[in-house]
Amino acid sequence: MKGSLILKKVNSEFIRKIVEVSGVNVFACYQCGRCSASCPLVEEMDILPNQMVRLVQLGNEEVLNTATPWICATCFSCTARCPLGIDIAKLAEALRSISLRKNIDKVKINQISFGELMKLPQIALVSNFRKNTSVS
Ligand code: SF4
Ligand code: SF4
Repeated sequence: MKGSLILKKVNSEFIRKIVEVSGVNVFACYQCGRCSASCPLVEEMDILPNQMVRLVQLGNEEVLNTATPWICATCFSCTARCPLGIDIAKLAEALRSISLRKNIDKVKINQISFGELMKLPQIALVSNFRKNTSVS
């Protein structure tokens, strides 16, 4: 309820879209950093999970060009440690969805070599296509 009241006052179409797609009230975050401290994949990310939340709070669309939403493995460690239970995995999923709706694929299927196709487990390929391409 409080989240939807806040959303009515938000002027940025970008923020409204992210909040609506993810269902996450990004404005609850007060940047304590616990999410980033508990994330097992921060070393692979270009911005920290709390920084991803902050960019969304600011309505900064550059967040769509960062690697972090794609690296997120939806392990929920961050949500378990967040004092407010903010679901960062859902936020990352919403950011990926919004990118993919523009038909910008993160993985180019036709650029995967025959050798890789033969070597990689089928389930890994299918999961990869579901997460990283707009073809699904
Ligand atoms: S743990 Fe929660 S409140 Fe703290 S920075 Fe992360 S998302 Fe924000
Ligand atoms: S859900 Fe994503 S951001 Fe959160 S701890 Fe796991 S990998 Fe990191």
